Amino acid sequence: MVKSLLHWLALTGLAFFVSSCVKTESTLLHIQGQTMGTYYQVKYVLDTNQQNNKKLSIETLQAEIDKRLELVNDQMSTYRPDSELSRFNRAEKSLIVSDATRRVVEDALLLFKQSNGAYDITVGPLVNIWGFGPDKKPNKVPSDELIAEKRKIVGSQYLSVEGNRLSKSIPELYLDLSSIAKGYGVDLIADYLQQLGINNYLVDIGGELRVHGFKPANEQWTLAIERPVAGQNVQRLIHIGDNAIATSGDYRNYFESDGIRYSHTIDPQTGKPINHKLVSVTVIDKSSMHADGLATAITVLGPTAGLAFAKEQHLPVFLLVKAGDDFIEQFTSEFEPYFLEEK
Ligand code: ADP
Ligand code: MG
Repeated sequence: MVKSLLHWLALTGLAFFVSSCVKTESTLLHIQGQTMGTYYQVKYVLDTNQQNNKKLSIETLQAEIDKRLELVNDQMSTYRPDSELSRFNRAEKSLIVSDATRRVVEDALLLFKQSNGAYDITVGPLVNIWGFGPDKKPNKVPSDELIAEKRKIVGSQYLSVEGNRLSKSIPELYLDLSSIAKGYGVDLIADYLQQLGINNYLVDIGGELRVHGFKPANEQWTLAIERPVAGQNVQRLIHIGDNAIATSGDYRNYFESDGIRYSHTIDPQTGKPINHKLVSVTVIDKSSMHADGLATAITVLGPTAGLAFAKEQHLPVFLLVKAGDDFIEQFTSEFEPYFLEEK
């Protein structure tokens, strides 16, 4: 997960150190809430002629942001039985959906093709039997028969988009946008802030971030790539400019059975959770939606094929790979300019 440094420092008790160094007229405003099963936060700076604008009051902005995030849930959540996505999942053949859902599904289909099927939003039935879906079952390993049965109904080749109509060629097809909807939500809120003329912001939904402009005193937004070890939480500090950043990792959402750790990321080839030494994948892109999907795609591909894919596509990607009790960093040359300091 990537975090804004202020968030980190607040956690580690160093917030005072940072804020005491910064004395400016514009202040950093902060909105936070819950969405998509996780937290969200928006930090932003208003310029002097925006500060007395009632339309830009923190309360109004929060209400507008919540409204937009609610809409995304109503469109793309498999946790809501009446969402567009759930209605499509129940449909025999097809459903006309919003522009938003169509755009996300189209990007997901592009990633399916680019990743040779490693990234596949039709993986939902497999996600569900492993206990990572909306009807959380007790965490146990499903039988090989059940896995084989569900694998038959997984495959984005059964899904098509024409205008706003999503169609399936098998009635059981079931989509899961959990790997990309948070990123879409970040873009939606960031674009909304831009529309309002707010150019200095950080939008964060559960560790998927997009930043633009500066903090007060023209400071850059400093982000941290997490090191998943108790007590030493920062692996790298980065400045990403006006970009989005997404991280996928298996160290937060997993279950353990007989001492084996099962990740929530499923390899559609095997029907099982990925099983390799990749701890986290961090991707920088203009689009938070695309970065979110890409991070999941590279996670499925694994350290070797994932890095090869990132290099081939010239993507700024950073991998943390487990090596014994330690971690090894691997990154593409496109990622290097974002590091705050050499290692
Ligand atoms: P996180 O940011 O929480 O690590 P990701 O963005 O990596 O999450 O998405 C993980 C979720 O994506 C899983 O919980 C599951 O719902 C879904 N998923 C699992 N495997 C795949 C896959 N191969 N392709 C697309 N989505 C997947
Ligand atoms: Mg993702």
